[in-house]
Amino acid sequence: MAEECDVIELATRLVAGARLITVLTGAGMSTASGIPDFRGPQGLWTKDPKASRMFDIDAYVADRDLRVLAWRNRREHPAWTAQPNAAHRAIANLESQGRIRATITQNIDGLHQAAGSGQRAPVWEVHGTLHNTVCLDCGDRRPMRDTIARLDAGEEDPPCLACGGMLKSDTISFGQSLDARVLDQAMRAAREGEVFLAAGTSLQVNPVASLVPMAWQYGARVIICNAEPTPYDSVAEVVVRGPLEETLPVIVGGEWTDPLG
Ligand code: NAD
Ligand code: ZN
Repeated sequence: MAEECDVIELATRLVAGARLITVLTGAGMSTASGIPDFRGPQGLWTKDPKASRMFDIDAYVADRDLRVLAWRNRREHPAWTAQPNAAHRAIANLESQGRIRATITQNIDGLHQAAGSGQRAPVWEVHGTLHNTVCLDCGDRRPMRDTIARLDAGEEDPPCLACGGMLKSDTISFGQSLDARVLDQAMRAAREGEVFLAAGTSLQVNPVASLVPMAWQYGARVIICNAEPTPYDSVAEVVVRGPLEETLPVIVGGEWTDPLG
């Protein structure tokens, strides 16, 4: 316990001394908001390894039953009722001080924006958003709520209204490449932050995980806040294991003293 207090104090001091912080978040940010992660102890894939098939683009395209299941899951997704938690609010508060370079998130739930992030600094949703649909054939994008209304009306695998093609949530599945512009912006932000704070991510998915060593190579001081070990703990100056909704408000809540006055 004493050790945990020390690392929190160390992380708080690092953040308090930094003018520009780049944040990378993952599913662990939103578990306290009731959205399960994939790989944590209560994760969707930890409990049901077969569930990961739904996030494979080839399986999705080939298997109608899988798509019907995927639409059912989207309709019932906890994100529609989830509220941001204290960890999201802590990041948004730091942004309101003008000290966030960018919030890079692998989350698709929109909770950073719901907490107020994205006003003074960008939120880069590197794995897309659940709040839109995209047509795999013509690229037409629409609000997810419109498609959910079609599910409510009885459609099981709704086709694109523009071209009749196959629809999916506007999120990145395994086998799909990331939006090059978004990834490029995320890489720039990783290189430009004085402190790089990774929170609630197992850092097992590339290329996003590689932002951590990139930031470190460009001189950022790395803080990793995650309940479990990650492959990049060794480049972190501080690793904090506690629950984010408790640790982040403390870590980013220290009073900022601008070294340049
Ligand atoms: P992950 O499931 O691989 O890892 C989450 C990590 O967070 C785990 O190591 C877990 O131990 C930790 N964690 C969980 N709750 C925590 C808490 N309260 N405090 C501290 N640590 C906690 O997630 P990932 O690295 O983001 O990769 C999974 C992929 O799944 C992402 O690409 C993302 O797009 C997607 N995803 C998104 C959501 C969401 O939008 N909320 C939810 C599930 C999955
Ligand atoms: Zn289409």
